[in-house]
Amino acid sequence: MTQIYLDNAATTSVRKEVVDEMVKVLTNDFGNPSSTYAIGRHSKALIESARKTIANQFNVSSSEIIFTSCGTEGNNWIIRSAVKDLGVKRIISTKMEHHCTLYAIQQFAAEYGVEVVYLNILPNSEIDYNQLEELLKDEVPTLVSLMHVNNEIGTILDLKRVGELCKQYGALFHSDTVQSVGKVEIPLDELNIDFIVASAHKFHGPKGAGFVYIRKNNVLKPLIVGGEQEKGMRAGTEAPHQVVGMAKALELSYQDLNKDRETITSLRDYCKAQLEENFPGVKFNGSENPFYNVLNILLPFSPEKTAMILFQLDMKGISISRGSACQSGSQKPSHVLAEFLSAEDLTKPALRISFGSDNTKEEIDYLIDVLKAV
Ligand code: PLP
Repeated sequence: MTQIYLDNAATTSVRKEVVDEMVKVLTNDFGNPSSTYAIGRHSKALIESARKTIANQFNVSSSEIIFTSCGTEGNNWIIRSAVKDLGVKRIISTKMEHHCTLYAIQQFAAEYGVEVVYLNILPNSEIDYNQLEELLKDEVPTLVSLMHVNNEIGTILDLKRVGELCKQYGALFHSDTVQSVGKVEIPLDELNIDFIVASAHKFHGPKGAGFVYIRKNNVLKPLIVGGEQEKGMRAGTEAPHQVVGMAKALELSYQDLNKDRETITSLRDYCKAQLEENFPGVKFNGSENPFYNVLNILLPFSPEKTAMILFQLDMKGISISRGSACQSGSQKPSHVLAEFLSAEDLTKPALRISFGSDNTKEEIDYLIDVLKAV
């Protein structure tokens, strides 16, 4: 059966070159990176070389990159340590963050007695930058935690603007960049950001590998203790094959960025045009100009038709999410859409189509044909 994968914001396929690198390491380099003899030292060298490759993509120093298992771990770690160890008394965030940030903020703020302020979301799904500035004028030690690209609707945060505000008012700035790393340039040397978080499976790397950037001067305490790995910041024997695979995936993503961005943008635009032509009344949720790889849509179908739509698409070999992948199976409306859609629109099922460079126009045509037959 035809298989069409249009859920690249949930995860991505692993590139062949990445698999090859990982297999090479798994086959040849089993040494424990903490061992002091040659095969251990070789594994350690692989990890340090991967760290350098990753740091270079952001113009930062390798000492500022720490490996983790995933984006969820990175966001949890930074938020917990910021409130526990960096004297943060208030967190400014939104209710549109990924659940791993949203729930981490709720839990650690309650645990450590920290105030949380959620920014208003404007009808175009963007934050209210003026409100952020007004809040930052209060002299409270603050962590601003705002995602770069929203995983459900693709709304983009102006990292430069928020970074400058944070610098002006002395706040720490954490951005969940899981959806943007490898898909857009993030020159950290030009942006005032203290922490970013990434996950390899979102940029054609392996699952179970991620990293955080912690700007020099911010001394976090570890979330996981019990070993000296990652300078004591993240205990546990490292996984050289994962780290090497992640670095390769990131390097290739940035190497091919211009070409891939162009391909994906034109596919997304084609899909949008086809939806508009074939389904008059279709709505696109979120910003006028979302990130180039995603469309979040409301189809003008009756509730009976929409109830089974994902199932019907699946039966035809099409993988698409309802809202965010993390909520699939849930009947609750998306917490992201709930922030800015009308009560009526919220009752309608939204679909998230997210594109990758392997997708084709023919696949979009097939999707449109299947939707027409629903
Ligand atoms: N943050 C965002 C914006 C995401 O889209 C995701 C995954 O969907 C995560 C964090 C969690 O990352 P991971 O799957 O690596 O735990």
